[in-house]
Amino acid sequence: MFDYDEKLGEVVFDYCRARLSEDPVPLDFGSSLDIHPEALRGLISAQGEDPARVLEIFRTTLAPAVVSIDSPGFLAFIPNAPTKNSLLFDMVVACSGLNGTSWLESSGVVVAENQALEFLAERAGLPEGAGGAFVSGGSIGNLSSLTVARDVGRAKHPEIDPRRVRFAISADAHSSIGKALHVLDVEALIVETEDHRFTRSALEAALANDPHPENVVGVVATAGTTNAGIVDDLEGLGTFARAHDLWFHVDGAYGGAAIFSPSHRELLRGLRHADSFIVDPHKWLFAPLDCCALLYREPRLARKVLAQQASYLDVLHEGDDDHFDWNPSDFGIQLSRRARGLPFWFSLATNGVAAYEDAVERAITLAEATERFINEAEHVEMVRPSSLSIVLFRRLGWDAERYNEWSKWLLREQIAFVTPSKWEGETVARLAFLHPNTTEAMVHQILDSMRD
Ligand SMILES: *Cc1c(COP(=O)(O)O)cnc(C)c1O
Repeated sequence: MFDYDEKLGEVVFDYCRARLSEDPVPLDFGSSLDIHPEALRGLISAQGEDPARVLEIFRTTLAPAVVSIDSPGFLAFIPNAPTKNSLLFDMVVACSGLNGTSWLESSGVVVAENQALEFLAERAGLPEGAGGAFVSGGSIGNLSSLTVARDVGRAKHPEIDPRRVRFAISADAHSSIGKALHVLDVEALIVETEDHRFTRSALEAALANDPHPENVVGVVATAGTTNAGIVDDLEGLGTFARAHDLWFHVDGAYGGAAIFSPSHRELLRGLRHADSFIVDPHKWLFAPLDCCALLYREPRLARKVLAQQASYLDVLHEGDDDHFDWNPSDFGIQLSRRARGLPFWFSLATNGVAAYEDAVERAITLAEATERFINEAEHVEMVRPSSLSIVLFRRLGWDAERYNEWSKWLLREQIAFVTPSKWEGETVARLAFLHPNTTEAMVHQILDSMRD
């Protein structure tokens, strides 16, 4: 089973070639397709099955039961629109079994990933020396950062009971922040905000009203909330955190990519104060799943907290030059790691930064155009102004059930994948733009489909 079967290779490469050249890729159906585990019955056997048959089952039965997150019609949650170059290079990573765990084994991976990370750090305004690693996603990026933040906070404040250190977060922080704090057994000071934007004045008010503000050792801000695209007051929160020696973490899993937007970059200026910052290239930076860029202002702090200590791993840290400080596994939760930053690196290097700026900008422009279409229409209205590339709007007179029926109908008809969201308790429609090939005509079709 370790021999290369050239014929099977051709079949698989043909599949990949066909998929890569489909433009647009079919939206497909996800769970709305009636698929039963029965379809796979007997496939795992002692003797092994004919690969052609298994691949055919994948092609005809399994693949259509996945909504293509890279379709221009995928406008739910946060879509993913990997460039063709990034997909091609992901295949190179797969075929080479490229490992990216440590400098000792994988300096060729680490040096390229670090080039991409340094580029992102510089765009974010972080000082020279900032760095980190590519981890599996924003959730793990947040958990890794907050683990470091917690331990740094505890070390700085021996007078605080270590079980009592807290972070200030806004009620609109991503659910993965709450989950990370749950894992870390750290409580949050949840700050009430005005219009869902976490500001310095809201933080100051919350601390003033809290019986134990001295326990707060960190502040978590969001650069682009997932539901609404709102960028917190990074400048205000960041300067406050600096002045009070609090850890400042910025979750930019989705909206951090706006550092590539010529028109909106300025909103993210305050990123330069971050002690840790994450952005998911698998969201708005057009890399395949799963990939999060995790950056620390002072990587040595993260290394101290997160490097795994084991006798068989000591050799990873005993190199005789500084490069041995660059073990991706020292910056995140996981040890073994595929070279998941390389598809992004290759795409950025080959497409050029200007193409990224253009593609990020395009999604924002489409959100702004959509806002105009909605304002001009009678049957729909904006819930709040569009932010970054996200549009929240309502169909007058619809209840939750009607939105759900409509959402299913849109997918069944292969028009788009749009799922309702909630805003202040009300079920509303939400469009998350990201794919550069999503068109105004598609938006019109979606809005028109809500007429009756
Ligand atoms: C998507 C998202 C996350 C979680 O990232 P995953 O890559 O899905 O784990 C965290 N924060 C924000 C703001 C997000 O949009």
